[in-house]
Amino acid sequence: MKKLFLLLMVFAATMPLTARAQVASLDTLLVHVRELSSSTYEGRLAGTDAFLSAADYVIEALERYGVEPYGDEWGQYFETECNLIENCTFNSYLHSSDNRTVYVLGRDYCCAGMTGRGYADASVVFCGYGIDNGAFDEYANVDAQGKIVVVFSGVPNFLPSNVTSKYTQIRDKARVAKAHGACALVVINMSANCSPYEVQGSVYNGELPHLATFPIIQPTRDCGDRLLKDELMNLEEVFQKINDSQKPQSFHLRKKFEIETNTTYTPAALTANVIGVYPGADSKMRGEYVVVGASLDHVGMQGTTCLFPGADDNASGVAALLETARMLQMSEDQPSRSVLFVLFSSGEQQHLGSRIFVSNFSPLKKIEAFVNVDKVGSGDSIAVLGNKRYPHLWSVAKKVDTLYCSGDVMVGTKTTPKGDAVAFDYIGIPCINITNFKGYRHPHVPSDIVENIDRRYIVKATQLLFETVLDLSFGEYQGRSNESKRVRFDK
Ligand SMILES: [Zn+2]
Repeated sequence: MKKLFLLLMVFAATMPLTARAQVASLDTLLVHVRELSSSTYEGRLAGTDAFLSAADYVIEALERYGVEPYGDEWGQYFETECNLIENCTFNSYLHSSDNRTVYVLGRDYCCAGMTGRGYADASVVFCGYGIDNGAFDEYANVDAQGKIVVVFSGVPNFLPSNVTSKYTQIRDKARVAKAHGACALVVINMSANCSPYEVQGSVYNGELPHLATFPIIQPTRDCGDRLLKDELMNLEEVFQKINDSQKPQSFHLRKKFEIETNTTYTPAALTANVIGVYPGADSKMRGEYVVVGASLDHVGMQGTTCLFPGADDNASGVAALLETARMLQMSEDQPSRSVLFVLFSSGEQQHLGSRIFVSNFSPLKKIEAFVNVDKVGSGDSIAVLGNKRYPHLWSVAKKVDTLYCSGDVMVGTKTTPKGDAVAFDYIGIPCINITNFKGYRHPHVPSDIVENIDRRYIVKATQLLFETVLDLSFGEYQGRSNESKRVRFDK
């Protein structure tokens, strides 16, 4: 008994009680996730007013938690490509156009994020993966002129990557189909990370120019199966045959398709990162920053029936960031360095927002560390990525996890920073990602809803984020010298 008491005394003396005293609130986290993933914000598509409304919600929360705008205003404005999909219809018919099979937007198919606006009522040709390379030409023995082309998403792994790299993105496939005279493209989603029964939204469709009048839709694999039923080959057969024979298996369908897409495309729509600062308590260290960042945007909404809520991706990370701000405000131990909170826009477009941030934030040398929080509402444990590049920063997270959290952080992996952290890594700012590990279930699908958020892991990840940020703020970790071999600071 006495021993246990002594042990407790030692334990208590080695731990800053106040840091432990703040516990992440599941209720508060879920309020944020529920709000941000609601239809009010229409899937938070960067470049829309709905995204800016979500940004306003985040700003109001940050203000409540004692965070101030960095500079004159909260927003760091920039331009982004934006395609509003107002409506889309899709049906097929065999002999008579009076007898149509109607497919439902959001259930059977969705549009490619960067679909053009247009109408097509035409015969259909299946062209495998949509490749027209000389050695593997899936357009060679069919006539796509004036037709709707159906292809699989992705590329076959039996072809070398220097061939397939030109056909990986939806815009690559669209460019090829259009060049062969097609009037619309149907890309069956073969992605293994998505259920065959669920549509999968996208924003980034590749670097090629927008095809303003060329409709592109993406049926589920299940819907693709129905589209190819009663044709020359069914979906599984043709998939197998292409991969076994390693030869094109293109054919004309007996069915016709009718597709209509209504969209408003803006090449340079206004959007903004939100940047707030929680001033450090130490007058000497206040000019140094620990940056916490999360992507706020998601892949939007199509028509009135297809909402991508993005609860895990990434309302969960935004909620963890906001809850960290609330916990800092409540904490007796105040951060010595200032903590900068950044919500990125256009994360779904190759992390444009984080690239804009590092290109325009002037005291880059004053950033000691960047901690990204992304998709922390699913999986089977929490991962901290980046130990291969920034072992000292990573070990801070590991230390606080052992001391104050659950000890669930992945160990022994050699990972590099990902997602929004890549822009920071590129210029040598020490960075890590706190994210889910294994079993990620919500890749841009309508079922990424608040009810499917893993309650345990979102709390654990938030606790880890808060403790890591507070520890980093005290100044023991010196980003620029601890990781000096890697730090470049070009700016
Ligand atoms: Zn995403």
